[in-house]
Amino acid sequence: MATKRIPSFDSHNPATGEVVGTYPMMSGKEVTEIAAHARAAAAKWQQLGFNGRKKVLISWCSLIMNRIDQIAALVSLETGKPVSDAKLEVSLAASHLGWAARHAEEIMRTSYRAPGLLMANMSATVQRSPLGVVGVIGPWNYPIFTPMGSISYALAAGNTVIFKPSEYTPGVGVWLEETFNEVAPFADIFTTITGLGETGGALCTSGVDKISFTGSTRTAKIVAAQCATNMVPVVLECGGKDPVIVAADANLERAVDATIWSAMANAGQSCIGAERVYVDEKVADKFVELAVELAKTIHAGAPGDGNYGPATMPSQIKVIQKHIKAAIADGGTCAYGGPDSVKPPFVQPVILLNVPEDSTAVREETFGPTIIINRVKNMREAIDLSNASSYGLGANVWSRRQGKRIAAELACGMVAINSTFSFAAVASVPFGGIKDSGYGRVHGPEGLLEYTYARTVVRTRFNLPIKFLSFKRRPKDDSLVIALTKMLKGRLG
Ligand code: NAD
Repeated sequence: MATKRIPSFDSHNPATGEVVGTYPMMSGKEVTEIAAHARAAAAKWQQLGFNGRKKVLISWCSLIMNRIDQIAALVSLETGKPVSDAKLEVSLAASHLGWAARHAEEIMRTSYRAPGLLMANMSATVQRSPLGVVGVIGPWNYPIFTPMGSISYALAAGNTVIFKPSEYTPGVGVWLEETFNEVAPFADIFTTITGLGETGGALCTSGVDKISFTGSTRTAKIVAAQCATNMVPVVLECGGKDPVIVAADANLERAVDATIWSAMANAGQSCIGAERVYVDEKVADKFVELAVELAKTIHAGAPGDGNYGPATMPSQIKVIQKHIKAAIADGGTCAYGGPDSVKPPFVQPVILLNVPEDSTAVREETFGPTIIINRVKNMREAIDLSNASSYGLGANVWSRRQGKRIAAELACGMVAINSTFSFAAVASVPFGGIKDSGYGRVHGPEGLLEYTYARTVVRTRFNLPIKFLSFKRRPKDDSLVIALTKMLKGRLG
């Protein structure tokens, strides 16, 4: 009897093209079955309470850190990034997991609200409940840090989770499921499903209660549309074109060091990586000189050789090439590297200068180890150009005295002053963007509350002699309501 072949796909080492794993391409039917199991497990996971869940999640955190060499090697194999970068990524992911486990109870504690004078006899409270089953769809660029920003918080809030990793990094997703199951008190709390885009699509319509998606803006719109058919809410963490503003009073050495790292580390494949710099013309020459000096000391190569690795997704190379060519065709110049820096699967550092703002290279996400440096007359111009983007994820500001003032005017979800990437590493603050960079938040209390719903409970503490919400309301009661409203206008609320 002929055996039925299970559809599968391969994951590759992007530095060599070698196959590193083969995984099943899960069908819609399988995903729906898994969602039903996750729903059944959700009730038990909730019953475990905050303390019970905290113990499980802290054990998982310890296990991940005890096996950091193993998971970092796998992240490096599937993405091509240096092992040391992979270790940093794993450590940050584990910190978020620990933080979410330890803070879920206080974040979800019932909150007591002032009922206002007209409702003074009421006690007004807001309770928080987990949603049930959360679907997490992840990208490949930070295959553990990024999805764990949703998985950890959703689990800590009392949801069960189904994770669909990127088809470029399925091994990392499977490793997460296997290690979780080593500490799990029962099955189906956290499940990884593997497959291509269709499997992700199937998750959106499988009956989950929310989708937390991280990936490109293009896919985010498809995911949101698929979820809309069943009124499934979504968190969308998408791409960016993050600006770096450098004021005349900036510490240039630190600004250059952080900006070149932000732009080139992970082969430029960071959603919050620096893509464009607006530097005050008074210090622009020095900034460029220092940036070129630093770029000369770094190079792309396979793990163990390069400061950063290859492009993880081969098709991204074409986008990077197109943007470098567009920048030059539109009037920009190369201060370091250029079109010849693209040598698949690697891209060596590229620094572009004075690229017109309407160039594709300035407008679209490049996701490669390139940086555009444009000079500005003043900080007003830098702020306006930073905001003139369809994206609004993060931004960096370098200034000794004007950091907070500039940050307050930036149209984006996160700002790092005299640092880069820092907001992603602080577990207590929300992470996310506006405009084409998405909506909703991960991390921090706001991120945890994304995986809960609010239940308002208003209870009568004692009865008043006046009945407002009754057919027995009298004309003098109407007069009292109107007089009190005129007088208070929301005070004592
Ligand atoms: P992508 O959009 O190609 O894929 C993301 C995920 O969506 C993958 O798991 C993929 O299989 C799945 N998918 C594809 N089609 C689908 C469909 N029709 N329905 C459901 N799921 C589907 O993105 P990518 O190339 O993996 O990731 C890179 C992008 O992610 C960049 O734009 C980057 O800026 C962004 N990103 C954003 C953040 C953030 O937090 N804002 C973090 C990391 C990466």
